Amino acid sequence: MTTAVSCESCGMPLAGAEEHALADPSIPYCNHCAPEGKLQSVDERLERFTQWTMREDGLDYPAAKEKARAYLKTMPAWKDAL
Ligand SMILES: [Zn+2]
Repeated sequence: MTTAVSCESCGMPLAGAEEHALADPSIPYCNHCAPEGKLQSVDERLERFTQWTMREDGLDYPAAKEKARAYLKTMPAWKDAL
């Protein structure tokens, strides 16, 4: 049985229980977003994602932050927080 689940914080596909935080399928987040089983703060996630976008896309900090914010805003976990 397969169900298409993705992290509600970052959109990463969660293919199996082991990719969920704490390998617990009842937690709708990946182990990057919720390393201790609890979702990190929006500031922390935005900062991490900004750093990642800078590396991936070669953007400077303000441009990467705008892109990261726009992306995270599409996620169920953050749509009301950003
Ligand atoms: Zn995630």
